[in-house]
Amino acid sequence: MKEEVALPALSRLPRGFLRPRSLRAQLALWHGGLLALTLILLSAFTYVLLRQFLNSRADAALEQYAETTAKNIAATLYHQQTLHPGQKIDPSQFVSNDDLQSWGRYVQVIDPYGAKVAYSDALRTLSLPIDNETMLRGFQQHRPVTFQTAYDLGEYPVRVVTVPVQMGDQVPYLVQVGASVEGVEAALQRAAVILLVLTPSIFLIALMGGWWLVGRSLKPVDDMTQTALSIESKRLDLRLVPPRTDNEIGRLAGALNEMIARLDKSFRQVERFSADASHELKTPLTSIRGEAEVALMSDLKPEEYRATLRSIVEETERLSSIVNNLLLLSRADADQVRLKQEPLALDEVALAAYEPMERLARRKNIELDIAAMDPVCLRGDSLWLGQLITNLLHNAINYTPEGGSVVLSLTRVPDTEAPEGSGFALLSVRDTGPGIPPEHLPYIFDRFYRVDSGRSRDQGGSGLGLNIARWIAESHSGQITVASEVGKGTTFTVRLPAADEK
Ligand code: ADP
Repeated sequence: MKEEVALPALSRLPRGFLRPRSLRAQLALWHGGLLALTLILLSAFTYVLLRQFLNSRADAALEQYAETTAKNIAATLYHQQTLHPGQKIDPSQFVSNDDLQSWGRYVQVIDPYGAKVAYSDALRTLSLPIDNETMLRGFQQHRPVTFQTAYDLGEYPVRVVTVPVQMGDQVPYLVQVGASVEGVEAALQRAAVILLVLTPSIFLIALMGGWWLVGRSLKPVDDMTQTALSIESKRLDLRLVPPRTDNEIGRLAGALNEMIARLDKSFRQVERFSADASHELKTPLTSIRGEAEVALMSDLKPEEYRATLRSIVEETERLSSIVNNLLLLSRADADQVRLKQEPLALDEVALAAYEPMERLARRKNIELDIAAMDPVCLRGDSLWLGQLITNLLHNAINYTPEGGSVVLSLTRVPDTEAPEGSGFALLSVRDTGPGIPPEHLPYIFDRFYRVDSGRSRDQGGSGLGLNIARWIAESHSGQITVASEVGKGTTFTVRLPAADEK
């Protein structure tokens, strides 16, 4: 069954502008969108903050100037009252146009009747606005400062501050100071222009940089795609070229390469297995056909026909044994063989496998013996474990020359790593045969592997017995090992986890 893993998030969007086919475009789209949003928010925030800052600074300067003027007027009034009491004062002297501080500012002094009693030159024809509420706040409530903005005095709005002239409890005058917001507006305009030019420029540079960076990072993915497209079952030797840096893509390439290597290995195994299997089946078939053809073509005596038929039956038996073994292995590969998990006495299973071998050993004049037979219980399938022991004994008798000996032994050993555990069963089959050369030992359990193919085929072997033995051992959570010395003999040892005694 084919399983597809969908990528979350983006895959839910409709295809089209928002979900372009290339990852690079998708990333650029998201990156660009987020960047634009961030820049717009940042610019707006900067502009608002700047505006607030400039306005409050301008107001503070205006207020300070108005306060100073009010204090000066109060000082003049106080001076007049103490030095020349009763003498009227000319209010027009309250405002001086020569004062450097007054530059760019409009100043006017209002008396409690709302009359403009003093003013700077620029206000000769104009007046700073003052409403009733401001008059009330200034003269009666002594509320110190009022700000307002006048829009009709000139090209730019004028910010006006009104402060009272405080003489003890009395307020004889109000001082109004106005200043055009032109300076602030000009600064803000300049800031807006800078932001309007800077923001899109930063956006474009970052977008292009992002596009380039993403392209650079995804280049190895494109290369890998090209290589992956050219990999098929016949070209599994090809590998993806990982990027030079060890990043996510490098690790992906590494993981894919490992996967291709595993596929390569199993494809090769399958190929070799099919080739070997057909070869194995072909040999007895050719032999059957040859014998039958010879018998058909020549005039044979009845006992000769019988001999031919016997030989054909033998070859057929071999054929069906190979086919049975192949069937078993392919079912085992597909996990279709169900092994029983019943409690059993391995010593009984070993003895049952041992007995039929005695006849074979006697025929070959081989001494078959038991060195030890500890009672060992374990959980498993007695039929398959019997098959495992039979395979090992059969091989030992088969490959040991006449006069040799084969020894079976079963011992129970405690588990040194977990002393309270049930320990292991160690079953070994030792022979005094020709031994297996060390260069062959790693492959001895492979399917169809034979050390001396001509000789062992003559002896009836198909090269599947040890592979089946290993499968049985491993299916019982055990393992099988071999130790051999050329000219001295071979020992196969099976180690199986034991169960508690009944
Ligand atoms: P076969 O059916 O050919 O015996 P196996 O898988 O049982 O297949 O064994 C694989 C090969 O290992 C044999 O062909 C033989 O060359 C070698 N072999 C197995 N057991 C022994 C042994 N006891 N002594 C020497 N060689 C052995």
